[in-house]
Amino acid sequence: MSKVLVVGGGHAGANTAFALRKDGFEGEITIISDESYLPYHRPPLSKDFLKQNIAIEKLSFKSADFYKEQKININLNTRIDAIDLESNLVKTNDASFEFNYLVFATGASPRLLQMENADSKNLFYLRQISDVLSLHKQITAAKEIILIGGGYIGLEVASAMIELGLKVTILEAEERILKRVTSPEVSKFYNDFHSNKGVEVICNAKVNNLNAENQMIHSVSLESGESLAADIVLVGIGAIPNTQLADSMGIECSNGIRTDQYCRTSIPNILAVGDCASSFNALFNQEFRLESVPNALAQSKVASSSIIGNELFNNELPWFWSDQYDLKLQMAGLSSGYDECHIIGDINSAEFIACYGKDGHLIAVDSVNQSKQFMLFKKALGNGFQLEMSLIKDKNFQPESIFSGSN
Ligand SMILES: Cc1cc2nc3c(=O)[nH]c(=O)nc-3n(C[C@H](O)[C@H](O)[C@H](O)COP(=O)(O)OP(=O)(O)OC[C@H]3O[C@@H](n4cnc5c(N)ncnc54)[C@H](O)[C@@H]3O)c2cc1C
Repeated sequence: MSKVLVVGGGHAGANTAFALRKDGFEGEITIISDESYLPYHRPPLSKDFLKQNIAIEKLSFKSADFYKEQKININLNTRIDAIDLESNLVKTNDASFEFNYLVFATGASPRLLQMENADSKNLFYLRQISDVLSLHKQITAAKEIILIGGGYIGLEVASAMIELGLKVTILEAEERILKRVTSPEVSKFYNDFHSNKGVEVICNAKVNNLNAENQMIHSVSLESGESLAADIVLVGIGAIPNTQLADSMGIECSNGIRTDQYCRTSIPNILAVGDCASSFNALFNQEFRLESVPNALAQSKVASSSIIGNELFNNELPWFWSDQYDLKLQMAGLSSGYDECHIIGDINSAEFIACYGKDGHLIAVDSVNQSKQFMLFKKALGNGFQLEMSLIKDKNFQPESIFSGSN
């Protein structure tokens, strides 16, 4: 009987197991996870779960019974640190697992702040349920929080903390928030929106010192000489793919475990999916790594297909969402290298779509509170439509016309 071993029980790992059963795989499936919870939805960790608006049980994808029914073995609190490729065997302290196929779904880990006092008890990262549970213990008594990093995590936490009544400061090292992922127009929109909600956003903020006593940070000093008081510091400065294990086995890695469009690594019976993988995407004819739920879900289907011998391949349009206050940001496509940005709608009323063009064609969109229109653009980009920017910039352009052809 064929055996699939999945290392990592996050979105990509669990969904690979689900997809295998859906695709009719009858062999043995084992998921190994170093966390103590059944596979769960990670996005609420910086949103509703952080605000304590949903119970922990609601985070799980499936109940324990579901795994039993589907005959998916799941080993929690189990970390894999070595894999023997000669014998296709994985050994932990108290068990060993054989495999015919191994799927790396090890995700990514927060980039750590390398600085004195970064190990203080009131400094947090946000990746796992356990991080949020520790944070909850301190939030109730806290009045001021400093968020280091103005990316999605920082901004979503800022929104949650404002709703909880804390004084919030975001320290962003670059000249604008969200610089890595969006245009100056959209960054400015988010900066203004957060500022209007009461967040102090400081850009070009280089953290110099975390000032602590008894392992508790009380203030953060900047290179500018400014010092800001804090009860809690949360660091969201990006994530690093968990490739150590794959690397140690001689599997090709470069900002992620490298795979072809079938999610296969440089070793044929070993696959990689999700945040840990740098995969070839046939729609873009290039390899890249993404950190998003849709990417993890799409790749889990591809990996399952590769294992059972079908021909599905990775041609998913990258897309992502972020919820802050009552703003739904949805992004599709890859905007890097764009040479024009055209806004449809009214940026001041928080209902707009930023359209990014390159060489006269649409390559990506960022949508705020325009979900219906966003879906049309996403579908068009995903189908490889060559939408002309001149058409989009026409004042009579209606996104609905993309598929009705009425423009
Ligand atoms: C706070 C937060 C909010 C987010 N919000 C959004 C959002 O709004 N929209 C969106 O699209 N995406 C969002 N994301 C990103 C999204 O959650 C990730 O892209 C997705 O979880 C990736 O799934 P994964 O399975 O690849 O990795 P993960 O979900 O990180 O799962 C990897 C698992 O493998 C385990 N593991 C690693 N190494 C080992 C080992 N050696 N042995 C055993 N287990 C191991 C890890 O502990 C982890 O449990 C968010 C992420 C975070 C952290």
